[in-house]
This record gives sequence, C-alpha cells and structure tokens, in this order.
Amino acid sequence: MKAIRLNGREVPYRVTAKNNKNTYYYFKRDGYIQINLAHNQNERDALNYITANETTFYRKYLKHCVRTVDDSVYRLWGKEYRRMRGDDDLIFSDDTVRIPDDATRVTAFEKAAMTEYLSELVDRYMDNGFIDIKNITLRTRYAKTRHGSCNPRLRTININTHLVHLDKRYTEYVFLHEICHLVHANHGPDFYDLLQRLCPDYRVIRRELKALW
Ligand SMILES: [Zn+2]
Repeated sequence: MKAIRLNGREVPYRVTAKNNKNTYYYFKRDGYIQINLAHNQNERDALNYITANETTFYRKYLKHCVRTVDDSVYRLWGKEYRRMRGDDDLIFSDDTVRIPDDATRVTAFEKAAMTEYLSELVDRYMDNGFIDIKNITLRTRYAKTRHGSCNPRLRTININTHLVHLDKRYTEYVFLHEICHLVHANHGPDFYDLLQRLCPDYRVIRRELKALW
C-alpha cells in the first residue's frame, strides 16, 4: 500500500476513483486512509489536501486507525518494534520486542527507561543559566491526559510515563515546560519567554504532541 508522511510517520492510504462530486476520506480500522476521489480530482490533489491539513488528518488517523495496529506494535522512544510474546523481561532486537504477559514488568521497564532519560535531562540542563534545578524531585506516573505537572513549593515534578512511547524530544519539551513552573506558576507571558529561551521550538513540539496524544 502507498503511504504519505504525516508528522514524521508513514501513513498508508488507498485511492479509488469515483464519480462523486466531492472527495471523501475514510479512516479505516485496518490502519489506512481510504480516499474516494471526486471525478475532477486526482491523487495529487487529495494528498495536497491531506498535507495542508496534516495535524487534523494525523489526529484522526491515530484515533480511528491505529488502535488495531497497536496490538502488534510496541513503541519505545518513537521507534516501532513488532510485539512478540516473551516470558522474561522485555528483550529488544532490531525490530522486534519480546514482551511478557506480566504487565508489572512492562511498567517497571517503562518507569526505569523514563527515569534514566530524566536524569540525563537534569544533567544536560543543570547549568541552563535561568532556572535552578538542583534538589528537584522527579517522579514518573501514568496519567490519562496530563503530560506533566510541577509543585514549585515542594520542587517536585511529575512526568507522564506514557511519554516513553514517543520520540525523546516530547519528554524533553515536557521536562522544560515543568521546570519553568519552578519560576512561574502560571502560563503567563513571562512563563513562555522563559520556555522559549530553553526550548526555542516549543510551539512546534507542543503542536505535534497535541496531535500525537
Ligand atoms: Zn504548565
């Protein structure tokens, strides 16, 4: 099947020429976008339209198409692995991962992976020049919607463990967002000035993250 690149990911699609007045897009559970072309449009027109509305299409794709695909795929830091049954700890090879049925092993693995990366981030940003991040407490937790949270008084930051499935730049962005709350509690202009200094691309990354999850 052909694929179009949306948000850095290959999204499969199928095109059928129809005698319709309009072009219709269907998000199929089998994991692809079905394009039914209007009589006066060609494939290129449809793809241009998708690209022009990339975020919307990607969000719908993830919502409607990915669920069934997800059962066979495991993502670690944005890289996809084919999921296979295992009975020990998670064992990764080039493109497969053996995963035990015991979910507690999976959560332990993910928390450890996230904790390790967060300590890398603390090292990298220790001398950031704007925010004192010595003596902060970082915790990982599985949250439904929030990517992170910060208690400036206790200097405690929570990072959503689910982020371990996405590219590392999203965790980095959330980390930087939360450490800015050590200085500014609310999302005022000063907060965003500071965030911009630490993370010049934060607008782009935030938009991608919203589309992903
Ligand atoms: Zn915030």
